[in-house]
Amino acid sequence: MSRDMLQFVSQDKEMPQKRDAEARAADFDEIYGDFSMKKAEEQASRCSQCGVPFCQVNCPLHNNIPDWLMLTAENRLEEAYELSSATNTFPEICGRICPQDRLCEGNCVIEKGFESVTIGAVEKYITETAFDEGWVKPVTVTQEKDQSVGIIGAGPAGLAAADKLRRKGYQVTIYDRYDRVGGLLIYGIPGFKLEKEIVTRRTELLEASGIEFVLNCEIGKDITFDAMREKHDAILIATGVYKARELQLAGAGLGGVVPALDFLTASNRKSLGDDVPAFDDGILNADGKNVVVIGGGDTAMDCVRTAIRQNAKSVTCLYRRDKANMPGSQREVENAEEEGVQFKWLSAPVAVLGDSTARAVRAQRIHLGQPDETGRQVPQAIADSDFDIDADLVIKALGFDPEDLPSLFEQKALGVSKWGTVQIDWKTMMTPMEGVFAAGDIVRGASLVVWGIRDGRDAADQIDAYIQAELRGEHKQAG
Ligand code: FAD
Ligand code: SF4
Ligand code: SF4
Repeated sequence: MSRDMLQFVSQDKEMPQKRDAEARAADFDEIYGDFSMKKAEEQASRCSQCGVPFCQVNCPLHNNIPDWLMLTAENRLEEAYELSSATNTFPEICGRICPQDRLCEGNCVIEKGFESVTIGAVEKYITETAFDEGWVKPVTVTQEKDQSVGIIGAGPAGLAAADKLRRKGYQVTIYDRYDRVGGLLIYGIPGFKLEKEIVTRRTELLEASGIEFVLNCEIGKDITFDAMREKHDAILIATGVYKARELQLAGAGLGGVVPALDFLTASNRKSLGDDVPAFDDGILNADGKNVVVIGGGDTAMDCVRTAIRQNAKSVTCLYRRDKANMPGSQREVENAEEEGVQFKWLSAPVAVLGDSTARAVRAQRIHLGQPDETGRQVPQAIADSDFDIDADLVIKALGFDPEDLPSLFEQKALGVSKWGTVQIDWKTMMTPMEGVFAAGDIVRGASLVVWGIRDGRDAADQIDAYIQAELRGEHKQAG
């Protein structure tokens, strides 16, 4: 059945139903429901099928959005799934957690005065339907290759690369220091944005595709990088960035001041049914506490909303710029506000007060001055504007830096940028070390899942090209 598009004139933008704030603050389940078939078709039919689709241009995967929206509007969902999964390894994950307001939807150019098409929710709907209908299957390899690729890191970048390499017939082994597959998808991002079963459903498919996982195995400690290199024809480094930026304040070392990822990992492990002594002892648990989260990115938003769900007495987010200049997704800020988080905009911490453990955070008001060379207004402290906020749990969410991989892997030849990220040639995705590639946050710095997927897919193509050239003897001839 063909269906008219351009329905944005008569059809308003709608998101799938969001659970009310009180109900969702009581558990860690996702906050959005699913579209019904009728709603998905209606919403997809709002697309005006632009000649130059800016949604697609601004999707890091360049997903063929207008075409899969049209197929959805026509209820041709199997074809829509074929198309959406051709460019995205994990469309059901991106549909849930991409900051669409900054990517595809933020660049949708339906005529002025009309709201964008609900792209992410339709992408999720297509893929969930595909899972329900049994269209999502493990990779079947028609021709096995003898060559093997070793991947360090089972986050989105490593997994996306593994999937694509396996499809080409390579033997793929992923090593991860954690006990579960998924990287930040499993231990960083909370269940209310991405339920853990969604991640494990994918992990099982990858395992069934013949990808080998070696868990609880830290490269550089349990196995040397050199040993790994000897074993495989090519290596992909996809280790992410984990070194938390420190709070440089008086009182930053007091008890009750904790890094964001420790807090979130403990909460995720608890939801997964693990024993977490630091949670049970109350160190990484917000129950009954006045919580202050310092920072304004996605990690800070995840911390404040996790604290709400752990029954904190109060939850305050301190951010030195204003709401319009938050790095976090506006949608997540609004969700946090609905759930009862207090935001202190234009406020920066000065000290953590307390004897041995935190009692309060002293902050000062900020004025945004002239823009600097990056174009962002510079925060300036307002004299005599100090104020205190009660806090017995202070969460540092100031961002992450890469660990020192050249030392950790004992590989001086691994070049790093001034930010400590691994340097690659962006055309080949290869580091200065022959046959060693890198992808995801370890190359970009803290970024997004969708960019990790993109890099992983690109790296897989480049690794394939490298190994094939190697087999043809081209590198040796060139050398
Ligand atoms: P990671 O996901 O970090 O995976 C790296 C893996 O490498 C880990 O499993 C780690 O254990 C392993 N590893 C590291 N070193 C070694 C070693 N030496 N040996 C073996 N294994 C090793 N992005 C979004 O798009 N949307 C969001 O809503 C969002 N929310 C976020 C919330 C939080 C709290 C955080 C911290 C990040 C969030 N992000 C979000 C960012 C996103 O999670 C990352 O950009 C993405 O996961 C990066 O993928 P990656 O594969 O490069 O690294
Ligand atoms: Fe939008 Fe992300 Fe899907 Fe691309 S992958 S279409 S940016 S939700
Ligand atoms: Fe459709 Fe919006 Fe993309 Fe245009 S920009 S093709 S209207 S989703």
